[in-house]
Amino acid sequence: MSALEADVLIQGAGPAGACAALNLAPFRRVLLLDRQPAPPRRIGESLPPAARRLLADMGLWDDFLRQGHRPCHGNRSVWGGLAAEQDFLRDPDGHGWHLDRARFELWLRQQAVERGAALLAPASAAAVAAEDSGWRVTLRTPAGPRQVHARVLIDAGGRAATLARKLGARRQPGDRLVCGWLYGHDRGEADNGLSRIEAAEHGWWYSAALPDRQRVLAFHTDADLAAARRLREPGWLVDAAARLPELGALLHRTGFAAAMPAELAAAHSARTSPAAGPGWFAVGDAALSFDPLSSQGLFNALYTGLAAAEAADGSLNGDAAAVADYQRALDAIGAAYRRHLDAWYGEERRWPTATFWRRRQPA
Ligand SMILES: Cc1cc2nc3c(=O)[nH]c(=O)nc-3n(C[C@H](O)[C@H](O)[C@H](O)COP(=O)(O)OP(=O)(O)OC[C@H]3O[C@@H](n4cnc5c(N)ncnc54)[C@H](O)[C@@H]3O)c2cc1C
Repeated sequence: MSALEADVLIQGAGPAGACAALNLAPFRRVLLLDRQPAPPRRIGESLPPAARRLLADMGLWDDFLRQGHRPCHGNRSVWGGLAAEQDFLRDPDGHGWHLDRARFELWLRQQAVERGAALLAPASAAAVAAEDSGWRVTLRTPAGPRQVHARVLIDAGGRAATLARKLGARRQPGDRLVCGWLYGHDRGEADNGLSRIEAAEHGWWYSAALPDRQRVLAFHTDADLAAARRLREPGWLVDAAARLPELGALLHRTGFAAAMPAELAAAHSARTSPAAGPGWFAVGDAALSFDPLSSQGLFNALYTGLAAAEAADGSLNGDAAAVADYQRALDAIGAAYRRHLDAWYGEERRWPTATFWRRRQPA
């Protein structure tokens, strides 16, 4: 069987990969791969107001509004002993969103296909070898192996960054944060559309109301701490949240009832180094993974998907600076993220002897 030909092969059709694909597809032959035939149910649904500008730049805003996601009007936190509310009333971009995440991802994939990308799912890159004019990639598909010749590769495969690592990049984790989470339903009083964050002795909690009276509930701690062993226990998350002063009262008011067993997700900060090289780019979590406290992961996925699409197009046009420029932009994002994260964690000083918080205090 002859090899498939692509200008750009993108591994991972999550938010970052789909964005890279939909921005390149009108100009280049794009092959988008994902090991999942359809986006699975996953935590990660807060989209900040500034995402509006990116969606508008990519020509997606009007269609996004038709998807029926839920407005998020701000955040209410109990952090450092203070209860604070930050609404988006004065934000020039308006409110943010609490997405139906699977619907959002499916829509982005469809946009990439409508703009001309070829989508192969399930499929993933089993082996990669450099060739004169790009890369020879052996795909693993249900119908057996397929060969692709691609001029540029984009790793959009999320935290595992398997493609970038095949190309020699190293993954550098910054901490051991994990998250136990579940979805359920609100049966009582309506929610006011705020994200909730509450610090506790061994980590921090998050909850938000989602479309269709669904709610997500999550607890974040370090993988090696005793609290992490409880994250998968049925009922533990709900019972522990019910005892929190603020979140417990909210869950009581909204009549929250869990609708699935708890799931575990890696949530640590990490970076891939380098995140780009001659003929390849890493985007989204595959380049830079954020602590969910930042609520910036999706924004970063959309932004780097767009930036890497421009850089890949530049490289294909012979722009010798495209790779270094992209890497510099990522370094700046990584440095700003680190500063903000240290400042946020540094504000919570109520449990100076608890390992989770001690690890996050400034030296
Ligand atoms: C607990 C938690 C809560 C979060 N909450 C938020 C939030 O509220 N707001 C926010 O903005 N961000 C949040 N995030 C972060 C956000 O989910 C990520 O930053 C975002 O999903 C990154 O998008 P991505 O496309 O880079 O990667 P992913 O979303 O991980 O997508 C990667 C895609 O690649 C595919 N893939 C993986 N490996 C392969 C392979 N070998 N071959 C083929 N395909 C492959 C996967 O199937 C997937 O479709 C949260 C993260 C966590 C862990």
